[in-house]
Amino acid sequence: MKARIVVVSGDGIGPEVTDAATAVLQKVATKYGHEFSFEDGLIGGIAIDKTGSALPDETITLAEGADAILLGAVGGPKWDNPAAAVRPEQGLLKIRKHFDLFANLRPVKTYPALAQYTPLRPEILENVDMLFIRELTGGIYFGHRQEQGDGDTAFDTEQYSVPEVARVAAVAYRAAEGRRKKLTSIDKANVLASSRLWRRTVVRLNEDYPEVALEHVLVDAMTMYMMTRPASFDVLVANNIFGDILTDEASVLAGSLGMLPSASLSGGTMGLYEPVHGSAPDIAGQGKANPTGAILSAALLLRYSLQLEEEAKAVEAAVDATLASGARTADITPRGSAYVSTTEYAQAVIEGI
Ligand code: NAD
Repeated sequence: MKARIVVVSGDGIGPEVTDAATAVLQKVATKYGHEFSFEDGLIGGIAIDKTGSALPDETITLAEGADAILLGAVGGPKWDNPAAAVRPEQGLLKIRKHFDLFANLRPVKTYPALAQYTPLRPEILENVDMLFIRELTGGIYFGHRQEQGDGDTAFDTEQYSVPEVARVAAVAYRAAEGRRKKLTSIDKANVLASSRLWRRTVVRLNEDYPEVALEHVLVDAMTMYMMTRPASFDVLVANNIFGDILTDEASVLAGSLGMLPSASLSGGTMGLYEPVHGSAPDIAGQGKANPTGAILSAALLLRYSLQLEEEAKAVEAAVDATLASGARTADITPRGSAYVSTTEYAQAVIEGI
């Protein structure tokens, strides 16, 4: 098949990890007889420097006709001024909003060889394989807010409509159907009206996906279960703020931030794929970046935007084999031991494919 992929690599280690991911996609194209084209667009700090905007219109126009967007990371000390009118992360919010990317998918898997890099006991990490789905364009981050009077009081509003909940729940149910058929919905329905609407809607949708076993867990309890029995979860779905917090907590399970991929989807096949980590300015340009999160994001791109499941699995298997072979980037190597560079690691994955 032919596919047009727009690459917005951004700042810091962004370009290093997207280079690794596009090299992997290129290998997939050659091996399986596809034709992928890659076009570069600007986002983040580098876009501000060159155009004055964190997401120039040219990037949006470029991405509009594309099959998928591959993103690196944005930000860095040069642009770290919370009071500045134009900031790198505005590019992220704008691109998510523009393409109505309401479902953020974050798979979290553990690798036995990396157990020593987590603070948890190895037996808790056995067989962890979950898919977290966070609602990304609604809720309290986008609700009505106000600081009142002389700044002594303030409020933010958590608001959801049935269609907003139903569309992200449908993504979660479909994902669960293709996996172990278990869905955990996270809310705070014992206290919040918006959570009761969330729960009602998720329950109603279960009628359309009768094979999926649905359970509800309150968000406070979920923070404990994530650390005490993570292997018991398959697909999880949560609102924007609960998902934000819980996915960061879940990232501890994988051993390094550098390991985790994500996909942000709208109703169709168009999606944005990016590693979970930031621009890591402390290691940028040193060949120390772990490209696994970006490479596994490329696998999600193959799966969700191009419907190339076999190819996606081949990339994931090649990452597993690379780690099993002992190849390690600096972040997953004991201090003082030898490690491979970003490009050497990517090359090992490419050979694995
Ligand atoms: P970060 O994720 O960039 O880095 C946190 C720590 O993890 C650092 O020590 C870094 O070296 C390490 N790390 C991150 N990714 C790694 C990888 N692939 N391989 C090896 N080590 C890795 O978070 P931060 O330091 O809080 O933020 C740095 C900049 O990134 C800030 O400007 C922040 O605003 C931005 N940021 C961007 C995104 C995004 O683009 N989605 C997300 C988070 C932070």
